[in-house]
Amino acid sequence: MSTKVEMEKIVSLSRRRGFIFPSSEIYGGLSSCWDYGPLGVELKRNVKQAWWQAMVQERDDMVGLDASILMHPQVWIASGHVAGFSDPLVECRSCHQRWRSTDLKVTVCPACGGELTEPRQFNLMFKTFMGPTEADADVVYLRPETAQGMFVNFENVLNTTRKRLPFGIAQTGKSFRNEITTGNFIFRSREFEQMEIEFFVKPGTDKRWFEHWVNERFNWYLKLGMKKEHLRLRQHAKDELAHYARDCYDIEYLFPMGWSELEGIANRGDFDLVQHTKFSGKSLDYFDEETKERIVPYIIEPSAGVDRSFLAFLLDAYDEEPDKNETRTVLHFHAALAPYKVAVLPLSKREQLVTQAKKIYADLRPLWMTDYDDTQSIGRRYRRQDEIGTPLCVTIDFQSLEDNQVTIRARDTMEQIRVPINELKTILSAKLSGELLSNQPLWSAK
Ligand code: ATP
Repeated sequence: MSTKVEMEKIVSLSRRRGFIFPSSEIYGGLSSCWDYGPLGVELKRNVKQAWWQAMVQERDDMVGLDASILMHPQVWIASGHVAGFSDPLVECRSCHQRWRSTDLKVTVCPACGGELTEPRQFNLMFKTFMGPTEADADVVYLRPETAQGMFVNFENVLNTTRKRLPFGIAQTGKSFRNEITTGNFIFRSREFEQMEIEFFVKPGTDKRWFEHWVNERFNWYLKLGMKKEHLRLRQHAKDELAHYARDCYDIEYLFPMGWSELEGIANRGDFDLVQHTKFSGKSLDYFDEETKERIVPYIIEPSAGVDRSFLAFLLDAYDEEPDKNETRTVLHFHAALAPYKVAVLPLSKREQLVTQAKKIYADLRPLWMTDYDDTQSIGRRYRRQDEIGTPLCVTIDFQSLEDNQVTIRARDTMEQIRVPINELKTILSAKLSGELLSNQPLWSAK
């Protein structure tokens, strides 16, 4: 199995099969904005669903939230984003291309060799105006992270649920950053989605919880089938830590351009609740029943990117395998992530077969995302499903009309078994959920 896939292959497969298209493509595209196509939207929903299931549904110490993208402008002053959420920008005096100076390994313009300006700080927040005037007083920002929505709702959640420390708030949603340099496909874009947790703990227990979350989040990727040798943890050096962070680990993935951040996990101490108390005038503290004291909780923040996870899962699943005299391209997605779980394929377009196949197709759709394909040879159709990562195919042939049995074919092993139609749902369910629950490699017929 290859360890490193070229990004070009993934970009081309994504385009060809409908995972990802350039935004506004008929107008020439919009720099570093992307549209998720029919297969991409399924994979993306599945990534978020797998996160929500493990982080919210299966835990007794977590609740969800969906805060608005536009927030009170004071939020971004309190958080430090207005003053400090910036990157050092340099511009080429000849070709006027702009670069993030920390990305540059040379002192001249990488595009034309021209002279560069001195760096100036460039704020990454997108600004817009609320209401009909464009006055400074009406400036609002598109959020550059989802986290602040959870900090400012700490008291609301505390007062409306029966949660006591330690507990967390989880949220997925869009964030926007006017990045100076983008690229590497969906790795760094200007509009992206995050999956963030703010976990509130008693001061003094924060180190233990920080460790818990680093492990928990690392294992989440492994459980969804990501290869261990493509993942690593990297602790931030003291001089690299953000101003609010006491400790921080990045989970890094071996992307084609090298090890890069997939997710950051930070111990933020009491920075956020103290800041918002100061700026809003509302106290955001917690009454500790044991000590009868009011305390300001510490926060552990695992912050992941949906699009980066999507890209890493796609790269990790991609393989080209020898198959007779050809090569088959296959996406070995974990069943929980696969856009389609099942494909129904009548062996030929003969009416009786199609009727039977469509009946089965209609029967499976309420249970799983199911595809249907009756064009070209069965071998070609298996390849098409392999290429989009469908774990199981169900084939209806002439024998099926006589014995009421169909063939199930597994993507990874290419093995086939025959099963009675009236047991099909139960067997498919066992094969699929077997993997969902046990995290075993995809089902083999043996
Ligand atoms: P980077 O240094 O790579 O720009 P960051 O350290 O600024 O990332 P965080 O602010 O920690 O990122 O954001 C948390 C997560 O959100 C990141 O780990 C990443 O998965 C995702 N993310 C951040 N910026 C982008 C972006 N421009 N495009 C896609 N995903 C992003």
